[in-house]
Amino acid sequence: MTSYEPPRGGSGGPAVRVLGPTVDDQTRCVHYAGPLDVIAIRFHCCGEFYPCFRCHADAADHALSVWPRAEFDTHALLCGVCWSTLSISEYRATDACPYCGTGFNPGCSLHYPLYFAE
Ligand SMILES: [Zn+2]
Ligand SMILES: [Zn+2]
Ligand SMILES: [Zn+2]
Repeated sequence: MTSYEPPRGGSGGPAVRVLGPTVDDQTRCVHYAGPLDVIAIRFHCCGEFYPCFRCHADAADHALSVWPRAEFDTHALLCGVCWSTLSISEYRATDACPYCGTGFNPGCSLHYPLYFAE
């Protein structure tokens, strides 16, 4: 299993790592590798970042659990371009990274119920 570390060095707090079958350093994976697929998600069940729910299914040894609404201020989304984290509320309210401007895949919203309680 490979895991990619943030491209920027320096003293920026604990390093974020993304597990699962990633294929580049912008968190694209073997399942979703399009130009807009640059988001990784921290899963409520284990607190680890994976590029998508299929990566979690492949690499984790447990069933995933979704984020309850009361925890939507958790920084559970990672922009794979600038490696900034967004809270679930921030992510759901935008279609681009507020830090680097990279557009997010609008198709991801189809998968919200897999990650977040509605
Ligand atoms: Zn998990
Ligand atoms: Zn994947
Ligand atoms: Zn970004």
